[in-house]
Amino acid sequence: MISLRNRLALSYALFICVSVLVMGFIINRFAEKLFSAFVTENINTESREIADTIAEQWDPNTGSFDVISVEAMGMYFVHQGYIVSVVDIKGEIVWDARACDMQQCAMVINEIIDRMENEFGVGGSFQTNQYHLAYQDVPIGFLNIDTYGPFFYSKTESAFLSGLNNFLLVSGGIFIILSILLSVFLAAEISRPVLRASEAARRIACGELSARVSDRYGTRELRELSRSVNDLAAALENGERWQKQLTADIAHELRTPLTCLQGNMEAMIDGVWEPTAERLSSAYEEISRLNKLVEDLNRLSILEQKNLILHKTECDLTKLAGAAVERFRPAALEKGIEIKLLSPAVITVNADYDRLTQVFTNLISNALKYTDLGSITVTLSETQQYCEVSVADTGIGMEADELPHIFERFYRSDKSRNRNTGGAGIGLSIVQTIVNAHGGQIQAESRTGKGSVFMVRLPREVL
Ligand code: ADP
Repeated sequence: MISLRNRLALSYALFICVSVLVMGFIINRFAEKLFSAFVTENINTESREIADTIAEQWDPNTGSFDVISVEAMGMYFVHQGYIVSVVDIKGEIVWDARACDMQQCAMVINEIIDRMENEFGVGGSFQTNQYHLAYQDVPIGFLNIDTYGPFFYSKTESAFLSGLNNFLLVSGGIFIILSILLSVFLAAEISRPVLRASEAARRIACGELSARVSDRYGTRELRELSRSVNDLAAALENGERWQKQLTADIAHELRTPLTCLQGNMEAMIDGVWEPTAERLSSAYEEISRLNKLVEDLNRLSILEQKNLILHKTECDLTKLAGAAVERFRPAALEKGIEIKLLSPAVITVNADYDRLTQVFTNLISNALKYTDLGSITVTLSETQQYCEVSVADTGIGMEADELPHIFERFYRSDKSRNRNTGGAGIGLSIVQTIVNAHGGQIQAESRTGKGSVFMVRLPREVL
């Protein structure tokens, strides 16, 4: 298959060659046309001047032509391509070039025919034009001039025209050669970034995701192409890194409880341990936790699909938050924690009811998990553009350096690990994904030992 560089070079070169040939042809035709018109006019003028010169050879004293002078001039005119004959008023031939030197006349005629037909491709024949000769307005005879018609080029004129054609040919040739060189150079310039981008794309396709292409060369479109290839590689690299990280995280999260469960089960099967109700219920709890982890992962993977479809309706946020608070009230009572909802008025928002319920569930369940004393307060408020939800607790809080990581998958603070809350560090990732999908934002503030506040802001008109 022909390469881009060759195709571009060929196209440019072909275009330039055709343009030069067409231009050359047009200039040549135009110049020849102008020149032939000029030459035709010149022949007419010269013929009239010849007639005047011959008339001047009339001797009024003798009442006849000076034949010697007429002959001298006549032979000169023959060499210029004008075959002349002079006839007096009575019709008698005074002097005839053919009769004087037939051989010379034939030579000049053949030379002109040869030049015009073979060299310039102008077909024609010798034609006779007659001019009146007069002395002081008294007719004294006639002059017959045979010339090649419709026009003929003298030796000098033909040399000029050949020179012009040669000049056109040589300059056209030089122009074509230069243009071909320029075409090759331009084609290489344009095709180089494309080749670089395709080479990088090929390497990326072969798994070399670190391959990049320089986007400093070429036109804007070619730079954009290079940038797109780089973006693609970066996205693939991130995806691969994320995938590896995820696999490692999942393996890490599953390994410890599964090893523990396996050990316990083996001990019971081998009879080392009594399968008491307590031990079986502990194993059951561990299995439930694993099940929840898998469920959370599944939920997160569904939410992270780019084409996450939200079933938005007009939701009564106050009612939704109230239901979530009530669901957790028994657990809060059991822990001796107060849980309350502060909502100034009925607030509605255009959102996916089930997903928003998930947001409240995760935030309140975290607050409950990480609070031993005090209260949990869910507050709703609204501005003209936003609905705001905050879930505040008086729990263990977090270190400032932990805050940037809490929305990452599988992130759990050491304190949380020590508490053995059963969480796997996915809950807040789910919350953030849902809030972002609604066009909203989530933020957290916290102080160790004082408590945490999670603030969700949702646009009222969710797009
Ligand atoms: P988990 O299931 O472990 O709670 P999350 O993604 O919900 O996972 O939370 C990630 C981490 O953020 C938790 O492990 C915990 O360290 C911290 N965290 C979340 N909510 C709170 C809170 N209300 N108080 C203190 N720490 C919290």
